[in-house]
Amino acid sequence: MTSPLSALIEARRDDLVALTQDLIRIPTLNPPGQDYRAICEYLDRRLSARGFRTELIRATGAPGDSDRYPRWNIIARHSGPHRGDCVHFNSHTDVVETGKGWSFDPFAGTVSNGRIYGRGACDMKGGLAASVIAAEAFTQTHPDYSGHIEISGTADEESGGYGGVAYLAERGYFSPDRVQHVIIPEPLNKDRICLGHRGGWWAQIETKGEIAHGSMPFLGDCAVRHMGAVLSAFEETLFPAMASRRTDMPVVPEGARQSTMNINSVHGGAPEPEPGFSGLPAHCVPDSCRIVIDRRFLAEEPLDQVRAEVTALLEGLKETRTDFDYTLTELNAVLPSMTDRSAPVVQTVARAIEDIMGKKPDYVASPGTYDQKHIDRIGRLKNCIAYGPGILELAHKPDEYVGISDMLDSAKVMGRTLETLLTGAG
Ligand SMILES: [Zn+2]
Repeated sequence: MTSPLSALIEARRDDLVALTQDLIRIPTLNPPGQDYRAICEYLDRRLSARGFRTELIRATGAPGDSDRYPRWNIIARHSGPHRGDCVHFNSHTDVVETGKGWSFDPFAGTVSNGRIYGRGACDMKGGLAASVIAAEAFTQTHPDYSGHIEISGTADEESGGYGGVAYLAERGYFSPDRVQHVIIPEPLNKDRICLGHRGGWWAQIETKGEIAHGSMPFLGDCAVRHMGAVLSAFEETLFPAMASRRTDMPVVPEGARQSTMNINSVHGGAPEPEPGFSGLPAHCVPDSCRIVIDRRFLAEEPLDQVRAEVTALLEGLKETRTDFDYTLTELNAVLPSMTDRSAPVVQTVARAIEDIMGKKPDYVASPGTYDQKHIDRIGRLKNCIAYGPGILELAHKPDEYVGISDMLDSAKVMGRTLETLLTGAG
């Protein structure tokens, strides 16, 4: 039987579509991190008019924050007349570059065949819109509720979240005495609960050489050949070792159940010529070669071990190669995060999915990190999941879209979750 809350959400279909389109039409590209103020002001106008108290917070001094591209965030809070828990929906407002291959204008929010197309449609303006509709419909159907609902729109998730959730968590906005349940409506599919994510370790490795004339390489020392030895060692030792490690975390897709590493870039020797340069290269032995590695690791792997494994391999090359010299610079490290299946938010959303969709949810973990890391590590709040509409594989792709009926179903699950946590129903 359809509940009054689900019926009201269903009746808000046009509003949900228009809201998602409006959000897509604010082109909050990151980099550079533009229009954050505009999207916060849009949400401010909407939610203030519906009884939310709003706060706009600039992450002054965070990485990327400047007067030209200020890192603005919004937190909107609605309170019921009785004491109770706070349920927080956190969405990032930034989107990645559009790339090529679109058949729709990426910032038009075109509706076609029951889908809304645009950059950020699934990742994650559709999820943000679903949470807004769910919260508004809930406060209307249950004005006498106990506790608080918060909706945040935060900056820079696509570049680490340091101008968004991390900044807010450091200032206590996600501390467990203030917020008790967090749902991040990332596009994980409407019947899946994402419990957490793998860890990440990013580093630059530079091999050193000595410049000389290219006709007499024996008078110099080729940094690119040294890097070749590093890459061979990775192929022979590190990649097979990583492939043998499996996690108990329910990571999807299947290929991410093991440790992985990407080599993001390799640069060595003379810089690339300017486009249009028609001359020939000069002949030099390269004195430097650099790679950036992106190592994703499992809950079962300590970060120290991840670091030590690469360092040991490089130190080993020092023993076997004449004049091998390197530097390793850590760029960033994020620990894995996993919320327990018995946590209240997991249990509640699982039951809501069963109620609304008539099936048990799948439990998954994400190959890449998202803002849960800051809520867990900085906020010290363990009762956090990602749950939202949209297909994960469409994120960052051309012709990204979100299905309208998926958004409605997710909004009903979010609404049902609010009923359970804030009215004692269910
Ligand atoms: Zn996202």
